[in-house]
Amino acid sequence: MKYRIKPKPYVEAMVRSALPGLTKLCALERIPFLTFSKQQIKRLGLKRYSNLGNRYRGFAWSDKNVIYISPRIDAEQARKTLTHEFIHLRFPYLSHGKNFEEKIGRLLKGEQFKPRKQRATPERVAL
Ligand SMILES: [Zn+2]
Repeated sequence: MKYRIKPKPYVEAMVRSALPGLTKLCALERIPFLTFSKQQIKRLGLKRYSNLGNRYRGFAWSDKNVIYISPRIDAEQARKTLTHEFIHLRFPYLSHGKNFEEKIGRLLKGEQFKPRKQRATPERVAL
């Protein structure tokens, strides 16, 4: 099987250019570290990297403020996936479901969220 190792340049550019705006809307203190590289996730010592890029379009570590996006993602999926991962960073305790999807919809429409209350965050959040 052949896997794309690097994202299409215009997809990466689109995703990276969306970071500051989403960071602001989610009221995060810092712009998340974004990578398209499984190897980089492994080097960072982050867990749950083994299936990245195969099973997942994206992954977020809310405690580390890190987002992984699959390099194989297409432009259509990229915005939704990035928004999804930002919801994980902003709402680290929120599970997938109706409420989660509703928050994605609000963020996609450009709604501004309030800052997260200071609280211990879970180690990781799955896609
Ligand atoms: Zn998720």
